[in-house]
Amino acid sequence: MQFELTILGCGAATPTLKHLPTAQALIWNGQLSLIDAGEGVQIALRKQRIPFQKIDRIYISHMHGDHVLGLPGLIGSMNLLGRKRNLVLHGPASLESFVRSTLKLTETHLKFALHFEPNDPNQSDVIFKEKGVTVWSIPVKHRIEAYGYRFDYNAPLHNIRKDQIQSLNLLRSEIIQLKKGLDVMRKDGSTVLFKDACHRKANPKRYVYSGDTRPCDAIRDAALNADILYHEATFLQDRHKTAKDTGHSTAIDAAKIALDSKVKSLIIGHFSSRYRDEDVLLAEAQSVFNLTQLANEGKHFSF
Ligand SMILES: [Zn+2]
Repeated sequence: MQFELTILGCGAATPTLKHLPTAQALIWNGQLSLIDAGEGVQIALRKQRIPFQKIDRIYISHMHGDHVLGLPGLIGSMNLLGRKRNLVLHGPASLESFVRSTLKLTETHLKFALHFEPNDPNQSDVIFKEKGVTVWSIPVKHRIEAYGYRFDYNAPLHNIRKDQIQSLNLLRSEIIQLKKGLDVMRKDGSTVLFKDACHRKANPKRYVYSGDTRPCDAIRDAALNADILYHEATFLQDRHKTAKDTGHSTAIDAAKIALDSKVKSLIIGHFSSRYRDEDVLLAEAQSVFNLTQLANEGKHFSF
């Protein structure tokens, strides 16, 4: 299982010539997901040659414009270009009325179904589960109802070694048992050990997206041992009061969370447009957590 993450927008508040507002594409489990949909998201998808008709699920962090204003336009284009397949949308409960009323007022009559799945605002919750894949919504601390997301992969079954099927003469029933990680006792008293018959299970993988938030325990807990944590880092430390008042984090805040959660890599984003050069944010974050990188439009991460 490979995760392919592409940053489509990583600026805060308004689109600028340098950054688009927040959006990301995540390809995993043979599925294309979108995380947030700031203005310009469909152009960004085209630029990165990501076929947006293949998006199956959209995860929205919260209803501030810089995270959702690209969504009605994207859905409208999907419709104009002949989409038939369903689209599932996760996010705050108010996402549905925003999307449906915008589509109605703009006379966008969809020929495909939208399924809205509101997150639980009171606790972290499993919102999607399929073949080793689990997605969690995580309530975070912003000015309004807001969520981060955790994407986990845990290989459910071991893969059988093809050479062992013949040499051990494995029966179908035995293969099923071995794939579950169980040893097989044969009638003749011999044992087939699953570790001899199977490949090692793929390593578990974890991606965590913070959304907009003050530093919070929910993300710290969710990000434990993550391969990548994407954490917002809107301000430098000298504006920590502004960050707190507006429900955001500083680069140092993000780095501390990464350090506490023992993540393998931190990506910071959601940059305030007051910083012409984000290297100052990177330097502050790296003073706490060295394995930090800056997000940027078009940047791609495989893990
Ligand atoms: Zn916000």
